[in-house]
Amino acid sequence: MYRIIFPAGLFWLLLCSIAWAASDPTSVRVGVFDNPPIVGIPAGAAPEGIAVDVIRWVAERENWQVTYVSDSFDKLVARLDKGEIDVLVGIAYSDKRAQRFQFSQQSLIGNWGMVFRHPKARIDSLPDLKGKRVALMRSSTHSQALVQLSKQFHAPFTPVYVDTYGQVLDAVVEGRADAGAVNRVFAALHAHQPDLAITSIVFNPIFVHYAAPKQASPVLLQALDRHLAALKADTGSAYYDSLRTWLEAAPAGRYPVWLPWAAASAAGLLVLALAIAGLLRHQVRRQTGELQRRADQLQSEIEQRETAQAHLNQLAYFDALTQLPNREGFNAALNQSLDAMQGTDERLALLFVDIDRLKNINDGLGHGAGDLLLQQIAVRLQSVLRTHDHLSRFGGDEFVVIVSDISDPSDVERVATRLLHCLEMPITVGSTPIYSSASIGIALYPDDARSSEALLKHADTAMYQAKELGRNRFQFYQANQTARAVERLTLDTRLRQALDRDELILHYQPVVALASQRIVGCEALLRWDDPERGLVMPGAFIQAAEDSGLIVQLGEWVLEAGCAQLRDWQKQGKANSMTLAVNVSTRQFEGRRLVKSVEQVLSRTGLAAECLELEITENVMLIMNDEVRCSLDSLRAMGVRLSLDDFGTGYSSLSYLRQLPFHTLKIDQSFVSKLPGEKGDTQIVTTILALAKGFELEVIAEGIETQVQYDFLREHGCEFGQGYLMSRPQAADQFVAMLGTGRIPSAG
Ligand code: C2E
Ligand code: MG
Ligand code: MG
Repeated sequence: MYRIIFPAGLFWLLLCSIAWAASDPTSVRVGVFDNPPIVGIPAGAAPEGIAVDVIRWVAERENWQVTYVSDSFDKLVARLDKGEIDVLVGIAYSDKRAQRFQFSQQSLIGNWGMVFRHPKARIDSLPDLKGKRVALMRSSTHSQALVQLSKQFHAPFTPVYVDTYGQVLDAVVEGRADAGAVNRVFAALHAHQPDLAITSIVFNPIFVHYAAPKQASPVLLQALDRHLAALKADTGSAYYDSLRTWLEAAPAGRYPVWLPWAAASAAGLLVLALAIAGLLRHQVRRQTGELQRRADQLQSEIEQRETAQAHLNQLAYFDALTQLPNREGFNAALNQSLDAMQGTDERLALLFVDIDRLKNINDGLGHGAGDLLLQQIAVRLQSVLRTHDHLSRFGGDEFVVIVSDISDPSDVERVATRLLHCLEMPITVGSTPIYSSASIGIALYPDDARSSEALLKHADTAMYQAKELGRNRFQFYQANQTARAVERLTLDTRLRQALDRDELILHYQPVVALASQRIVGCEALLRWDDPERGLVMPGAFIQAAEDSGLIVQLGEWVLEAGCAQLRDWQKQGKANSMTLAVNVSTRQFEGRRLVKSVEQVLSRTGLAAECLELEITENVMLIMNDEVRCSLDSLRAMGVRLSLDDFGTGYSSLSYLRQLPFHTLKIDQSFVSKLPGEKGDTQIVTTILALAKGFELEVIAEGIETQVQYDFLREHGCEFGQGYLMSRPQAADQFVAMLGTGRIPSAG
């Protein structure tokens, strides 16, 4: 479960920073390097960009006097080491750097590498880079990651190193390189030239943070974190204004330069053609048609490019909330990896990470909090992965990691353990620390499967297994897990068919007054008359029906069939003062459907409400809320009897027992079977009997198999009983025949 705590330390922290902010302005030296739109340094003007906007916002509220120190990235990193600047903006997080500097927890923006190619170069996926000239910005982490990645894919290329991302694109456009790598933020602004084509290669998602020297006080970064978290939580905030300003700046030269000229020429030719039409009608008509067709073609080319552009802008491969690759991005990356591994003996692991009980957070603290939590979880997960591991978000609370380059499953175990560990510390959302955990399923290539679909399915199955085993753990895929999942699935499908094909029947077990041996009622028990397997007992299918929700329809069928049967017997004068007990699953209490269906069934069959008893297990206490309580009250008000089934085996709350409108307790057979036995065993039963008396409840003992048990119960004041001693559950005609004799075999 998520625990929510408010540590006293938090208040101290808050007090300290308030006191700190109220004093003289604090001078803060901010290191900036030209990396638009995160930071742009226009000649002779102050720095600008998203990171600067955020710093300015925080400075105004925290009383900071900011001086900007502009330099190359490498020099700023050295200055940060020496403590010559207080904060460096726009630095990507990496484990290595985190050993050297402090990082803000909040990221300013998510970013990743993209590869653009010269239109003439045939490059679509990573392996195509092999032997090509690829322009890279010297100090960019993306450049290093791409070089690394190409080695893993056995696609080494010739790097053409330059100093800025602008120069990367220039190198491609001018033909000095076949392709070039830039980050997506830069690409969104500048990669709109006609001589640049996008490839499907996206890689190395990173998060841009603020960093401070290792030894410095954490106060500056804490202030940045606090404000940035609040800014990001509000889509109308200055942060989003800034994103809109810098990311949506109209890119220059959206259309190819030649297109307007071509369109104009086409139009000119059209006019000319029309003039000639006056002289050479026949020929002109043909030419006009041809020219019109070409103009249309040009128009459609313009539209196609616009669509492609829109597609690029929409960045279909990424998740808007966490900035991680989405399902599409994952598929592209996995297929790329699998293609590259064909014919090698390399292995890969897929980790399906499902965040436990995120729904509780969404329900309890709202979706905004859930979103913030997911963002921070994404950062945490990313922070414990290596650069070449690929993390994506599948939507909802699901993340998937591709771990390549593994020699032994223990490598994957280490990664999974790190992922679980990184969630152990609470994550603060707003000012509320939230404890989260995850369940991880792991599938290995090629051990478990070779196709991407099968790998994903197996990892998902293993994840479910991890959840079933108690969450907050990882589980490797095992072949029989699928067998079990398939079995569950087919059982469910077959049960649905059974319902449609009338393969369900009811057996009836008498409830006997122990003193008089008279049959006072019966319990309807469901059986499945499966043409393949014969009579199937409820133990084999009730749980699956509960899991899938089919139990609601099954329960309604039982109610209808049971009531109709009893009414039929009554009409024949065979069961006049008898009650019929029907088992009801707690799932039937969802919504107020149960009350309505009981009402309808009673009116359809004409059975008196007093003749119907609903058996509900103690688990109903676990879902007790106003709605359930209200349903129970309405049923009782209708005159229907209510009994608490399997009493003593589940969760019972005495205070509930007093408040709820039950008529009857059914002592579970596990207690009866131990009778007369040890003192402790008999005491449980005698205590339940006393308790029931105190609450004025009737008691039915279940599972009476011996005369000794029968006698013990009768002597200790138990009024009613049910069990094989008196009768096993019987098919309807056998049961009614037994009613006819008026005698219970062997009891008494
Ligand atoms: P339950 O409601 O506690 O039903 C009593 C079970 O004890 C029945 O098993 C019955 O055959 C068995 N029983 C009766 N007397 C004896 C005895 O002397 N000795 C022993 N060892 N067992 C005895 P059954 O019919 O297999 O049903 C098992 C469970 O399946 C039921 O337990 C009930 O929880 C569930 N179930 C059955 N029909 C339905 C239904 O229509 N709806 C729902 N939701 N659950 C049902
Ligand atoms: Mg029952
Ligand atoms: Mg029972």
